[in-house]
Order: sequence, then C-alpha cells, then structure tokens
Amino acid sequence: MLKTKPLPLPLPDPLMASLSGVPGFSADTFRAVHLSGEQITSLRINPMKWPAPPLGMEVTRVPWSSTGYYLPQRPSFTFDPLFHAGCYYVQEASSMFLEEALTQTTDISGPLRLLDLCAAPGGKSTLLQSLITPDSLLVSNEVIKQRVGILEENMIKWGGANVVVTQNDPRDFSAMEDYFDVILVDAPCSGSGLFRRDPETIGAWSEENVALCSQRQQRILSDIWPSLRQNGLLIYSTCSYSTCENEEILDWITTDFGATSLPLTLDPAWGIIESVSEKNACFGYRFFPDRVRGDGFFIAVLQKKEGANPSDFSSKRHSPERLSAKELAVCSPWLKKGEPIGMFKHQERIHALPEKRLGEIPYLQSRLYLKKAGILLGRLAGGELVPDHELALSLVISPDIPKTELSLEQAIQYLRKEDIRLETPFLGWALVCYENQRLGWIKILPNRVNNYYPKQYRILKRD
Ligand code: SAM
Repeated sequence: MLKTKPLPLPLPDPLMASLSGVPGFSADTFRAVHLSGEQITSLRINPMKWPAPPLGMEVTRVPWSSTGYYLPQRPSFTFDPLFHAGCYYVQEASSMFLEEALTQTTDISGPLRLLDLCAAPGGKSTLLQSLITPDSLLVSNEVIKQRVGILEENMIKWGGANVVVTQNDPRDFSAMEDYFDVILVDAPCSGSGLFRRDPETIGAWSEENVALCSQRQQRILSDIWPSLRQNGLLIYSTCSYSTCENEEILDWITTDFGATSLPLTLDPAWGIIESVSEKNACFGYRFFPDRVRGDGFFIAVLQKKEGANPSDFSSKRHSPERLSAKELAVCSPWLKKGEPIGMFKHQERIHALPEKRLGEIPYLQSRLYLKKAGILLGRLAGGELVPDHELALSLVISPDIPKTELSLEQAIQYLRKEDIRLETPFLGWALVCYENQRLGWIKILPNRVNNYYPKQYRILKRD
C-alpha cells in the first residue's frame, strides 16, 4: 500500500532543462513518478541485534543491501519498542547502496579508520558501523550543533563500541594528516533528490542555491582531503540531480587533487545508472526514482594517490587514564567476556572502546570535540558503577546482567518514562527488554521500581 502526497508545485523548469542529456534522465517518466505521489518505506536491520526480517510484514529485500527491506506500508515506528532498542534504522533505500560502494572498493576484513563527515542523523554511520570490524574506528561527525544530538542518539541505539561522535567543522580535520583510510562525504546539497518524498521543498529550490552548494562541496572536500591517507578512499554522495554538485565535482577533485575515480559493478536489474563525467571520465552512479525503488541519489568513489601511508597515531607521551585494579574489578563484569575492549576513565566516567584504539584517544581529543567516545559504561560512585543508558543498548554488555521482559503496554510506559509495576525475584539494577531486546535500565527497590530511561529520549507523542 502506498501513501500519496500531492505535488504542490511543478518541478522547476531550470532543473528539468539542466538534466536533459544526463544519462538515465527521462523527463516524462521522471515527472510522472513525482506526480504519482508514491512514497516508499524501507529500513535496514541491525544485524548485531536483530538478524530476523522485520515486523511480521510482507517485506521485500532492497536488492543492493544485505540488511535492507522495503515495507508494504509505513507503521508507527514511535510505538514499536524495537525501534527504540536500535533493532533497525528507517533508511531510504538508495542510500543503502553505500554498502556496495564500500565493499566493492575496500577490504573491510581488517581494521580501518573511517570518517563520516556529514553524519547526522546517522543513517550512513549506522550502516558503516555494521560493516566494519570491531577493532576499526568510525568517526561520525556533524558540524551543526542542533543536529549532533540525534546523531548521538542513533549511534547509542546502534550500540557499536568502535564509534566516536564528534562535532567539528570540516576544516578541523585538515590537521589530521593521513589519518583516515576511508572518508564519506554525504554532502549538504540542493536536495532535488528528495522532491518526491518531501514535495514542500520544491519551492525552495533555485539555481543560485545549486551553485552555492557546489562551492560549499568543494570547500568541504578541500578541507578534509589532507586527512585521507595515500591510497585511501573518498566516497562522495549527494541527494541532488544537478551535475554541478555531482559529475562536475568529480572532475574538479580529480583535476585539482589528482584523485582517481573507481568504477563499481552494477546488476542491470537494479536500475542504477552509471554516468561518466565529461572532462575526466570519472564514474558516478545515479539513482532516479522512476528507475529504482528509492529516492534521487548520486554516489562515487575516488582514491587518493598522493599523501603518506598510515602511521601510528597512538600517543607515546599521553595516554587515556586507565582504570585501577579495583575499578577494573568493578567495571569488567558489566562487559561481555572475551571482547577486544579496553576501558578508560574521563572525569569519573568510564568509556569502553576497542582495545587497539585506546592509544589514539589523546590524538583525537587534541584535534576534535568528542561528544561520545566508544560506549559510556557509566560513572563510578561509592565504589560502584552507576550504569549509563549507552551501556544498556550497547553490543558489548554482559549477557549475565539481570533482565526482565515487558509486555508491549509496559514497554511503551517505560519508554514514556512512566512508573511501571513489576514482580521480580531480585533487587538492584536490571535491564528491561521487549521481545528480548534491551530498552534501558530500571532499579528495583523493595517497594518500587525506578525508571532510568533518559528523559530526553522519552516518547512524548500520545497516539
Ligand atoms: N549522512 C547523513 C545520513 O545518512 O543520515 C545525512 C547527511 S545530510 C545529506 C548532510 C549533512 O551535512 C547535514 O547533517 C548537515 O547538517 C551537514 N552540513 C551542513 N553544512 C555543512 C558544512 N558546511 N560542512 C559539513 N557538513 C555540513
């Protein structure tokens, strides 16, 4: 079943004229799919939490994704506790092609350092986190302060310990020479690819804005280029159809920075169009909504030829504050045994990160504003750990921690941060679960249950 939204305005003539001759563009079917008001709902499951196909519905696979599904209708995600447990991320299908772009060009079986530069709200960061090894490190960055909160929330729900969330301007990365193996720039753009999903944005489109976006994209790419190591990969994407934000950017970066363009292999049944740029014959991949079941999207992979090979970025002089033997004894039982996880202390708060990456924390701290570093286990108080919500939703929590299963009604009450009544045979900290998936902490006292669901994440919607 498809939801429909009326198209409030005709598609901009200058946009339509500029697309004439672009590979895969067919004005009639492009216009028709926008007029149809068709809306597509898709999501990507978190394979580390929820390997089953979703929601008991008739779902179909997104053909270029190992974990993506189309849903026959859009359910109320707010009232599905599994959404809050981080079992899946509601993501537009074309964007999921990032998986192919990464896996066709990169050996992801070993440890990598990745930057997702324009990461909020976190769709592509959650996808990258699902693909990389536990000892890799994903720096998930968002420059706009008001958008970092949602990025942080989504990365907490996803649960990976190998993620650092930062809030920095692209120019702050210039000093991190040769650090990253892979950089994703999912660039801020003029947004024409979202016209079908969000027809209200049609009125805000202008040729002037397309030109401004193109200039900003070049500025962003110049800023982060030094932080990519030799032979490292830049994955560039937009949700714009305009060539000056897509193919022309590829021509510019290959001319000015000597980058090499990498081709990808497509299954013709996918309907994705390969577009070769005019000047330097760079490969870009276009998603038109009249050809694929997804929004408008563009993606390309480039390789850096100059620069240096990665070196050791662990600090010899500074290291993060390690835990005393006593503190280790307090914190270790909260973590899964046998995970390659190390812990460090920052202002009485304990963070867990891949052991191999701990030494790089001072390097990152000295250059970036870290909003979240690995998993925040909690805070030490009175010789005990007061566990944090991040730990409850993480992939590294011990399976031995007491749990209690909630009904759907109780789970919604919990997620609203209301009082819940429970009969349990034990006292103290416990996880509450819905369908075996962790939602957060409660503390069971002799006469009541305290709900520790974070206030800022609680469900406010009534129905
Ligand atoms: N990658 C995200 C995802 O998949 O969920 C979507 C990113 S959206 C296309 C582009 C992001 O770039 C926005 O979050 C926006 O706040 C951010 N942005 C805006 N101006 C920027 C700038 N000058 N430099 C870097 N990022 C910027």
